[in-house]
Amino acid sequence: MNAVPRGEPLHIGIYGRRNVGKSSLLDLLTRQQGLAEPGAPVDGVGKPIELSPLGSVLFLDTTGIEDAGALGGAQAEHTMKAIERTQLAILVLAEQGLGSLEVGLLDAFEQREIPVVPVLDTSTAVKPDDATVDRLIHRGLKPVRVSASKGEGLADLREALVALAPDAYLNAPTMISDLVPPDGMAVLVVPIDKDAPKGRLILPHSQAVRDLLDHDAYAIVVKEPELRDALDGLKRRPALVVTDSQAFSRVAAYVAPDVAMTSFSILYARQKGDLLQFARGALAIDKLKPGDRIAMAEACSHHPVAQDLGRTQIPRWLGQYVGGPLEVEQAQGRYFIEEPGRYKLVIHCGSCMLNRREVLARIFECNRAGVPITNYGMAVAYSLGIFERALQPFPAVLDAYRQASRGSKRLQPMPAGSSAHGMKI
Ligand code: SF4
Repeated sequence: MNAVPRGEPLHIGIYGRRNVGKSSLLDLLTRQQGLAEPGAPVDGVGKPIELSPLGSVLFLDTTGIEDAGALGGAQAEHTMKAIERTQLAILVLAEQGLGSLEVGLLDAFEQREIPVVPVLDTSTAVKPDDATVDRLIHRGLKPVRVSASKGEGLADLREALVALAPDAYLNAPTMISDLVPPDGMAVLVVPIDKDAPKGRLILPHSQAVRDLLDHDAYAIVVKEPELRDALDGLKRRPALVVTDSQAFSRVAAYVAPDVAMTSFSILYARQKGDLLQFARGALAIDKLKPGDRIAMAEACSHHPVAQDLGRTQIPRWLGQYVGGPLEVEQAQGRYFIEEPGRYKLVIHCGSCMLNRREVLARIFECNRAGVPITNYGMAVAYSLGIFERALQPFPAVLDAYRQASRGSKRLQPMPAGSSAHGMKI
Protein backbone atom coordinates (compact mmCIF):
# COMPACT_ATOMS: atom_id res chain seq x y z
CA MET A 1 0.00 0.00 0.00
CA ASN A 2 3.05 2.25 0.23
CA ALA A 3 3.53 1.93 -3.49
CA VAL A 4 3.66 5.08 -5.54
CA PRO A 5 0.13 6.00 -6.63
CA ARG A 6 -0.51 5.12 -10.28
CA GLY A 7 -1.00 7.73 -12.98
CA GLU A 8 -4.21 6.06 -14.04
CA PRO A 9 -7.06 6.59 -11.57
CA LEU A 10 -8.76 3.62 -9.97
CA HIS A 11 -12.29 3.46 -11.42
CA ILE A 12 -14.88 2.95 -8.67
CA GLY A 13 -18.44 2.34 -9.88
CA ILE A 14 -21.43 3.18 -7.66
CA TYR A 15 -24.35 0.84 -8.33
CA GLY A 16 -27.87 0.37 -7.05
CA ARG A 17 -31.41 0.90 -8.15
CA ARG A 18 -32.87 4.29 -9.03
CA ASN A 19 -33.14 6.80 -6.17
CA VAL A 20 -31.37 4.47 -3.76
CA GLY A 21 -28.98 7.29 -2.84
CA LYS A 22 -26.03 6.80 -5.19
CA SER A 23 -25.66 10.48 -6.01
CA SER A 24 -25.91 11.46 -2.33
CA LEU A 25 -23.21 8.96 -1.54
CA LEU A 26 -21.07 10.33 -4.36
CA ASP A 27 -21.57 13.85 -3.01
CA LEU A 28 -20.52 12.67 0.42
CA LEU A 29 -17.41 10.98 -0.92
CA THR A 30 -16.39 13.91 -3.06
CA ARG A 31 -17.53 16.57 -0.55
CA GLN A 32 -19.24 18.42 -3.36
CA GLN A 33 -22.79 18.73 -2.13
CA GLY A 34 -25.56 19.75 -4.48
CA LEU A 35 -23.86 19.10 -7.81
CA ALA A 36 -26.29 16.42 -8.86
CA GLU A 37 -30.04 16.11 -8.78
CA PRO A 38 -31.20 13.19 -6.65
CA GLY A 39 -31.41 10.07 -8.76
CA ALA A 40 -29.60 11.54 -11.74
CA PRO A 41 -26.24 10.37 -13.00
CA VAL A 42 -23.53 13.00 -12.58
CA ASP A 43 -22.14 12.61 -16.08
CA GLY A 44 -20.87 9.98 -18.41
CA VAL A 45 -17.28 10.27 -17.33
CA GLY A 46 -17.03 10.33 -13.58
CA LYS A 47 -15.78 12.45 -10.73
CA PRO A 48 -12.11 12.36 -9.70
CA ILE A 49 -10.81 12.72 -6.14
CA GLU A 50 -7.62 11.91 -4.27
CA LEU A 51 -8.14 8.96 -1.95
CA SER A 52 -5.04 8.44 0.17
CA PRO A 53 -3.08 6.17 -0.10
CA LEU A 54 -4.50 5.00 -3.44
CA GLY A 55 -3.92 8.31 -5.16
CA SER A 56 -6.33 9.46 -7.82
CA VAL A 57 -9.66 7.61 -8.05
CA LEU A 58 -12.55 8.19 -10.42
CA PHE A 59 -16.09 7.64 -9.14
CA LEU A 60 -18.52 6.48 -11.80
CA ASP A 61 -22.15 7.20 -11.04
CA THR A 62 -24.48 4.88 -12.94
CA THR A 63 -28.00 5.26 -14.12
CA GLY A 64 -30.39 3.65 -11.65
CA ILE A 65 -32.40 0.69 -12.79
CA GLU A 66 -36.15 0.99 -12.50
CA ASP A 67 -37.03 -2.61 -13.13
CA ALA A 68 -36.58 -4.43 -9.84
CA GLY A 69 -37.07 -7.81 -11.46
CA ALA A 70 -34.11 -8.24 -13.71
CA LEU A 71 -31.21 -6.61 -15.45
CA GLY A 72 -32.85 -5.55 -18.70
CA GLY A 73 -33.65 -2.54 -20.89
CA ALA A 74 -31.61 0.43 -22.02
CA GLN A 75 -30.72 1.70 -18.53
CA ALA A 76 -29.57 -1.72 -17.47
CA GLU A 77 -27.46 -1.94 -20.62
CA HIS A 78 -25.87 1.38 -19.69
CA THR A 79 -25.13 0.01 -16.25
CA MET A 80 -23.67 -3.21 -17.62
CA LYS A 81 -21.36 -1.20 -19.88
CA ALA A 82 -20.23 0.81 -16.87
CA ILE A 83 -19.30 -2.47 -15.21
CA GLU A 84 -16.71 -3.02 -17.92
CA ARG A 85 -14.97 0.17 -16.76
CA THR A 86 -15.23 -0.64 -13.08
CA GLN A 87 -12.25 -1.86 -11.07
CA LEU A 88 -13.92 -1.63 -7.66
CA ALA A 89 -17.69 -1.50 -7.04
CA ILE A 90 -19.95 0.02 -4.42
CA LEU A 91 -23.44 -1.47 -4.27
CA VAL A 92 -25.88 0.78 -2.42
CA LEU A 93 -28.72 -1.02 -0.67
CA ALA A 94 -31.73 0.61 0.97
CA GLU A 95 -34.88 -0.84 2.45
CA GLN A 96 -35.40 -3.17 -0.53
CA GLY A 97 -32.41 -5.19 0.61
CA LEU A 98 -31.10 -7.84 -1.77
CA GLY A 99 -33.62 -8.24 -4.58
CA SER A 100 -33.03 -10.05 -7.85
CA LEU A 101 -31.58 -6.88 -9.31
CA GLU A 102 -28.91 -6.55 -6.62
CA VAL A 103 -28.16 -10.26 -6.83
CA GLY A 104 -27.76 -9.89 -10.62
CA LEU A 105 -25.26 -7.08 -10.07
CA LEU A 106 -23.35 -9.07 -7.46
CA ASP A 107 -23.19 -12.03 -9.87
CA ALA A 108 -21.88 -9.73 -12.63
CA PHE A 109 -19.17 -8.38 -10.29
CA GLU A 110 -18.24 -11.89 -9.19
CA GLN A 111 -17.94 -13.19 -12.77
CA ARG A 112 -15.53 -10.37 -13.56
CA GLU A 113 -13.68 -10.64 -10.24
CA ILE A 114 -14.55 -7.06 -9.35
CA PRO A 115 -14.30 -6.52 -5.59
CA VAL A 116 -17.43 -4.96 -4.12
CA VAL A 117 -18.28 -2.96 -1.02
CA PRO A 118 -22.00 -3.24 -0.12
CA VAL A 119 -23.20 -0.01 1.46
CA LEU A 120 -26.27 -0.12 3.69
CA ASP A 121 -27.93 3.26 3.59
CA THR A 122 -29.04 4.01 7.12
CA SER A 123 -30.64 7.34 6.17
CA THR A 124 -33.91 5.79 5.14
CA ALA A 125 -36.80 5.21 7.52
CA VAL A 126 -36.78 1.45 6.82
CA LYS A 127 -33.25 0.12 6.95
CA PRO A 128 -31.82 -3.05 5.37
CA ASP A 129 -32.65 -5.91 7.72
CA ASP A 130 -30.42 -8.50 9.38
CA ALA A 131 -31.33 -11.11 6.76
CA THR A 132 -29.78 -8.86 4.10
CA VAL A 133 -26.62 -8.51 6.15
CA ASP A 134 -26.47 -12.29 6.64
CA ARG A 135 -26.83 -12.94 2.93
CA LEU A 136 -24.07 -10.48 2.12
CA ILE A 137 -21.74 -12.05 4.66
CA HIS A 138 -22.64 -15.47 3.26
CA ARG A 139 -21.36 -14.24 -0.12
CA GLY A 140 -18.07 -13.26 1.51
CA LEU A 141 -18.90 -9.54 1.52
CA LYS A 142 -18.46 -7.07 4.35
CA PRO A 143 -21.22 -4.43 4.36
CA VAL A 144 -20.55 -0.89 5.54
CA ARG A 145 -23.27 1.27 7.13
CA VAL A 146 -23.38 4.82 5.81
CA SER A 147 -25.82 7.66 6.27
CA ALA A 148 -25.23 10.04 3.39
CA SER A 149 -27.68 12.62 4.79
CA LYS A 150 -25.99 12.70 8.23
CA GLY A 151 -22.47 12.27 6.88
CA GLU A 152 -21.92 9.15 8.99
CA GLY A 153 -19.85 6.12 8.07
CA LEU A 154 -17.60 7.89 5.56
CA ALA A 155 -14.36 6.86 7.28
CA ASP A 156 -15.46 3.20 7.33
CA LEU A 157 -16.36 3.36 3.65
CA ARG A 158 -13.02 4.90 2.68
CA GLU A 159 -11.21 2.26 4.71
CA ALA A 160 -13.16 -0.53 2.98
CA LEU A 161 -12.37 0.91 -0.46
CA VAL A 162 -8.66 1.08 0.30
CA ALA A 163 -8.69 -2.47 1.72
CA LEU A 164 -10.41 -3.88 -1.37
CA ALA A 165 -8.45 -2.02 -4.05
CA PRO A 166 -7.67 -4.84 -6.49
CA ASP A 167 -4.18 -6.26 -6.89
CA ALA A 168 -4.56 -5.89 -10.65
CA TYR A 169 -4.64 -2.13 -10.02
CA LEU A 170 -2.04 -1.90 -7.28
CA ASN A 171 0.41 -4.15 -9.10
CA ALA A 172 -0.41 -3.18 -12.67
CA PRO A 173 2.55 -3.39 -15.04
CA THR A 174 4.46 -0.17 -15.35
CA MET A 175 4.55 1.52 -18.70
CA ILE A 176 8.30 1.63 -19.34
CA SER A 177 10.36 1.93 -16.15
CA ASP A 178 11.08 -1.82 -15.78
CA LEU A 179 12.75 -1.72 -19.21
CA VAL A 180 15.18 1.05 -18.25
CA PRO A 181 17.40 0.65 -15.16
CA PRO A 182 17.81 3.44 -12.60
CA ASP A 183 20.25 5.99 -14.05
CA GLY A 184 19.49 4.50 -17.47
CA MET A 185 18.16 6.51 -20.36
CA ALA A 186 15.44 6.07 -22.96
CA VAL A 187 15.11 7.97 -26.20
CA LEU A 188 11.50 8.87 -26.97
CA VAL A 189 10.69 9.77 -30.57
CA VAL A 190 7.52 11.87 -30.66
CA PRO A 191 5.69 13.50 -33.55
CA ILE A 192 5.21 17.24 -33.04
CA ASP A 193 3.56 18.25 -36.28
CA LYS A 194 0.67 20.51 -37.27
CA ASP A 195 -1.82 17.93 -35.99
CA ALA A 196 -0.28 17.70 -32.51
CA PRO A 197 -2.14 19.47 -29.67
CA LYS A 198 -0.66 22.87 -28.86
CA GLY A 199 1.50 23.41 -25.82
CA ARG A 200 1.68 19.89 -24.41
CA LEU A 201 2.78 16.35 -24.98
CA ILE A 202 0.05 13.78 -25.53
CA LEU A 203 -0.70 11.24 -22.82
CA PRO A 204 1.54 8.32 -23.87
CA HIS A 205 4.57 10.58 -24.13
CA SER A 206 4.06 12.43 -20.85
CA GLN A 207 3.26 9.17 -19.02
CA ALA A 208 6.45 7.56 -20.29
CA VAL A 209 8.55 10.54 -19.13
CA ARG A 210 6.89 10.55 -15.72
CA ASP A 211 7.29 6.79 -15.26
CA LEU A 212 11.01 7.04 -16.04
CA LEU A 213 11.52 9.98 -13.68
CA ASP A 214 9.61 8.19 -10.92
CA HIS A 215 12.12 5.37 -11.17
CA ASP A 216 15.29 7.50 -11.32
CA ALA A 217 15.82 6.97 -15.02
CA TYR A 218 15.61 9.73 -17.60
CA ALA A 219 14.45 10.43 -21.11
CA ILE A 220 15.67 12.28 -24.14
CA VAL A 221 12.65 13.41 -26.11
CA VAL A 222 13.18 14.14 -29.78
CA LYS A 223 11.23 14.56 -32.97
CA GLU A 224 12.04 12.15 -35.76
CA PRO A 225 14.04 14.64 -37.89
CA GLU A 226 16.36 15.30 -34.94
CA LEU A 227 16.79 11.63 -34.00
CA ARG A 228 19.98 11.08 -35.94
CA ASP A 229 21.71 14.13 -34.39
CA ALA A 230 20.46 13.22 -30.95
CA LEU A 231 21.75 9.66 -31.18
CA ASP A 232 25.05 10.71 -32.69
CA GLY A 233 25.58 13.15 -29.82
CA LEU A 234 25.01 10.59 -27.07
CA LYS A 235 27.89 9.43 -24.92
CA ARG A 236 25.86 6.55 -23.52
CA ARG A 237 23.89 3.86 -25.24
CA PRO A 238 20.17 4.21 -24.53
CA ALA A 239 18.52 1.31 -22.75
CA LEU A 240 15.51 1.67 -25.03
CA VAL A 241 14.23 3.67 -27.98
CA VAL A 242 10.47 4.20 -28.14
CA THR A 243 8.80 5.63 -31.19
CA ASP A 244 5.40 6.62 -32.36
CA SER A 245 3.95 3.91 -34.60
CA GLN A 246 3.87 6.12 -37.70
CA ALA A 247 7.64 6.49 -37.71
CA PHE A 248 8.36 2.89 -36.76
CA SER A 249 10.13 1.68 -39.87
CA ARG A 250 12.16 4.87 -40.33
CA VAL A 251 13.31 4.82 -36.70
CA ALA A 252 14.02 1.08 -36.87
CA ALA A 253 16.19 1.67 -39.92
CA TYR A 254 18.42 4.06 -38.02
CA VAL A 255 18.67 2.61 -34.53
CA ALA A 256 21.34 -0.09 -34.19
CA PRO A 257 19.83 -3.60 -34.13
CA ASP A 258 21.28 -4.38 -30.70
CA VAL A 259 19.52 -1.39 -29.12
CA ALA A 260 16.09 -2.35 -27.81
CA MET A 261 13.33 -0.55 -29.65
CA THR A 262 9.56 -0.58 -29.52
CA SER A 263 6.56 1.76 -29.82
CA PHE A 264 4.35 3.61 -27.36
CA SER A 265 1.39 1.60 -28.56
CA ILE A 266 3.18 -1.68 -27.78
CA LEU A 267 4.08 -0.40 -24.32
CA TYR A 268 0.36 0.22 -23.79
CA ALA A 269 -0.47 -3.23 -25.16
CA ARG A 270 1.49 -4.65 -22.25
CA GLN A 271 0.47 -2.17 -19.56
CA LYS A 272 -3.21 -1.91 -20.36
CA GLY A 273 -3.97 -5.17 -22.09
CA ASP A 274 -2.29 -8.47 -22.77
CA LEU A 275 0.87 -8.30 -24.85
CA LEU A 276 0.97 -12.02 -25.56
CA GLN A 277 -2.63 -12.08 -26.73
CA PHE A 278 -2.04 -9.07 -28.96
CA ALA A 279 1.08 -10.75 -30.41
CA ARG A 280 -0.95 -13.86 -31.21
CA GLY A 281 -3.67 -11.64 -32.64
CA ALA A 282 -1.14 -10.07 -35.00
CA LEU A 283 -0.49 -13.52 -36.48
CA ALA A 284 -4.03 -13.42 -37.86
CA ILE A 285 -2.79 -10.81 -40.33
CA ASP A 286 -1.16 -13.71 -42.18
CA LYS A 287 -4.55 -15.31 -42.71
CA LEU A 288 -6.20 -12.21 -44.15
CA LYS A 289 -7.19 -12.10 -47.79
CA PRO A 290 -8.06 -9.04 -49.88
CA GLY A 291 -11.67 -8.07 -49.21
CA ASP A 292 -11.78 -9.52 -45.68
CA ARG A 293 -13.59 -7.36 -43.17
CA ILE A 294 -11.61 -6.02 -40.22
CA ALA A 295 -12.47 -3.48 -37.51
CA MET A 296 -10.32 -0.57 -36.39
CA ALA A 297 -11.53 0.22 -32.87
CA GLU A 298 -10.66 3.55 -31.27
CA ALA A 299 -11.58 4.29 -27.69
CA CYS A 300 -12.25 7.99 -28.16
CA SER A 301 -13.56 10.23 -30.90
CA HIS A 302 -11.23 12.58 -32.67
CA HIS A 303 -11.23 14.39 -35.96
CA PRO A 304 -9.32 12.38 -38.53
CA VAL A 305 -6.09 14.03 -39.58
CA ALA A 306 -4.27 13.79 -42.88
CA GLN A 307 -2.58 10.41 -43.07
CA ASP A 308 -4.61 9.25 -40.05
CA LEU A 309 -3.05 6.10 -38.62
CA GLY A 310 -6.27 4.14 -38.12
CA ARG A 311 -8.09 5.31 -41.25
CA THR A 312 -5.34 5.59 -43.79
CA GLN A 313 -1.92 4.29 -42.89
CA ILE A 314 -2.63 0.95 -41.22
CA PRO A 315 -5.26 -0.06 -43.83
CA ARG A 316 -2.76 0.82 -46.56
CA TRP A 317 0.12 -1.12 -44.98
CA LEU A 318 -2.14 -4.11 -44.34
CA GLY A 319 -3.44 -4.01 -47.89
CA GLN A 320 0.11 -4.05 -49.19
CA TYR A 321 0.90 -6.96 -46.90
CA VAL A 322 -2.04 -9.16 -47.87
CA GLY A 323 -1.91 -8.25 -51.55
CA GLY A 324 -5.06 -6.15 -51.93
CA PRO A 325 -7.38 -3.81 -50.05
CA LEU A 326 -9.32 -5.03 -47.03
CA GLU A 327 -12.84 -3.99 -46.07
CA VAL A 328 -12.07 -1.76 -43.09
CA GLU A 329 -14.77 -0.55 -40.68
CA GLN A 330 -14.03 2.15 -38.13
CA ALA A 331 -15.55 2.13 -34.65
CA GLN A 332 -14.99 5.00 -32.26
CA GLY A 333 -16.10 5.79 -28.75
CA ARG A 334 -16.29 4.64 -25.16
CA TYR A 335 -18.27 1.56 -26.02
CA PHE A 336 -16.77 -1.36 -27.83
CA ILE A 337 -17.94 -2.61 -31.22
CA GLU A 338 -21.14 -4.62 -31.33
CA GLU A 339 -20.77 -8.16 -32.59
CA PRO A 340 -17.00 -8.45 -32.99
CA GLY A 341 -17.67 -11.87 -34.52
CA ARG A 342 -18.46 -10.11 -37.83
CA TYR A 343 -14.78 -9.39 -38.32
CA LYS A 344 -11.74 -11.44 -39.24
CA LEU A 345 -9.58 -9.28 -37.00
CA VAL A 346 -10.04 -6.42 -34.56
CA ILE A 347 -7.22 -3.89 -34.36
CA HIS A 348 -7.49 -1.63 -31.33
CA CYS A 349 -5.93 1.77 -30.78
CA GLY A 350 -3.34 2.25 -28.05
CA SER A 351 -6.15 2.80 -25.50
CA CYS A 352 -4.51 5.71 -23.70
CA MET A 353 -7.96 6.80 -22.46
CA LEU A 354 -8.99 3.35 -21.18
CA ASN A 355 -8.09 1.61 -17.97
CA ARG A 356 -6.71 -1.92 -17.90
CA ARG A 357 -10.03 -3.49 -16.97
CA GLU A 358 -11.72 -1.88 -19.98
CA VAL A 359 -9.08 -3.17 -22.36
CA LEU A 360 -9.21 -6.65 -20.84
CA ALA A 361 -13.01 -6.58 -21.16
CA ARG A 362 -12.63 -5.83 -24.88
CA ILE A 363 -10.18 -8.69 -25.26
CA PHE A 364 -12.68 -10.89 -23.41
CA GLU A 365 -15.44 -9.89 -25.86
CA CYS A 366 -13.25 -10.83 -28.81
CA ASN A 367 -12.25 -14.14 -27.23
CA ARG A 368 -15.89 -14.94 -26.64
CA ALA A 369 -16.64 -14.19 -30.29
CA GLY A 370 -13.62 -16.21 -31.46
CA VAL A 371 -12.05 -13.18 -33.14
CA PRO A 372 -8.35 -12.34 -32.84
CA ILE A 373 -7.50 -8.92 -31.50
CA THR A 374 -4.29 -6.94 -31.69
CA ASN A 375 -3.46 -3.27 -31.43
CA TYR A 376 -2.23 -0.49 -33.69
CA GLY A 377 1.43 -0.71 -32.73
CA MET A 378 1.50 -4.47 -33.19
CA ALA A 379 -0.30 -4.31 -36.53
CA VAL A 380 2.05 -1.62 -37.81
CA ALA A 381 5.15 -3.55 -36.75
CA TYR A 382 3.79 -6.76 -38.25
CA SER A 383 2.74 -5.35 -41.58
CA LEU A 384 6.03 -3.45 -41.97
CA GLY A 385 8.14 -6.51 -41.20
CA ILE A 386 9.66 -5.28 -37.92
CA PHE A 387 7.56 -7.30 -35.51
CA GLU A 388 10.37 -9.29 -33.90
CA ARG A 389 12.41 -6.14 -33.52
CA ALA A 390 9.51 -4.45 -31.75
CA LEU A 391 9.17 -7.41 -29.35
CA GLN A 392 12.88 -7.58 -28.46
CA PRO A 393 12.35 -5.79 -25.14
CA PHE A 394 9.89 -8.54 -24.13
CA PRO A 395 11.80 -11.85 -24.53
CA ALA A 396 9.11 -14.13 -23.10
CA VAL A 397 6.52 -12.79 -25.52
CA LEU A 398 8.99 -12.89 -28.39
CA ASP A 399 9.68 -16.59 -27.67
CA ALA A 400 5.99 -17.39 -27.49
CA TYR A 401 5.40 -15.52 -30.72
CA ARG A 402 8.18 -17.43 -32.46
CA GLN A 403 6.67 -20.72 -31.36
CA ALA A 404 3.19 -19.68 -32.41
CA SER A 405 4.43 -18.39 -35.76
CA ARG A 406 6.09 -21.68 -36.77
CA GLY A 407 3.01 -22.78 -38.66
CA SER A 408 2.39 -19.35 -40.01
CA LYS A 409 2.37 -18.59 -43.70
CA ARG A 410 5.01 -15.89 -43.59
CA LEU A 411 7.77 -15.25 -41.11
CA GLN A 412 8.84 -11.74 -40.39
CA PRO A 413 12.08 -10.72 -42.01
CA MET A 414 13.97 -7.79 -40.59
CA PRO A 415 13.46 -4.88 -42.96
CA ALA A 416 16.09 -4.40 -45.60
CA GLY A 417 18.62 -1.91 -44.38
CA SER A 418 17.56 -2.11 -40.76
CA SER A 419 21.10 -2.94 -39.71
CA ALA A 420 22.79 -0.89 -42.40
CA HIS A 421 22.71 2.26 -40.34
CA GLY A 422 24.45 1.71 -37.08
CA MET A 423 23.98 4.17 -34.30
CA LYS A 424 27.09 6.00 -33.19
CA ILE A 425 27.51 6.16 -29.46
S1 SF4 B 1 -7.86 6.38 -26.68
FE1 SF4 B 1 -7.11 5.49 -28.57
S2 SF4 B 1 -7.91 6.83 -30.23
FE2 SF4 B 1 -8.09 7.95 -28.30
S3 SF4 B 1 -6.18 9.18 -28.20
FE3 SF4 B 1 -5.82 7.26 -27.02
S4 SF4 B 1 -4.90 5.88 -28.51
FE4 SF4 B 1 -5.84 7.54 -29.69
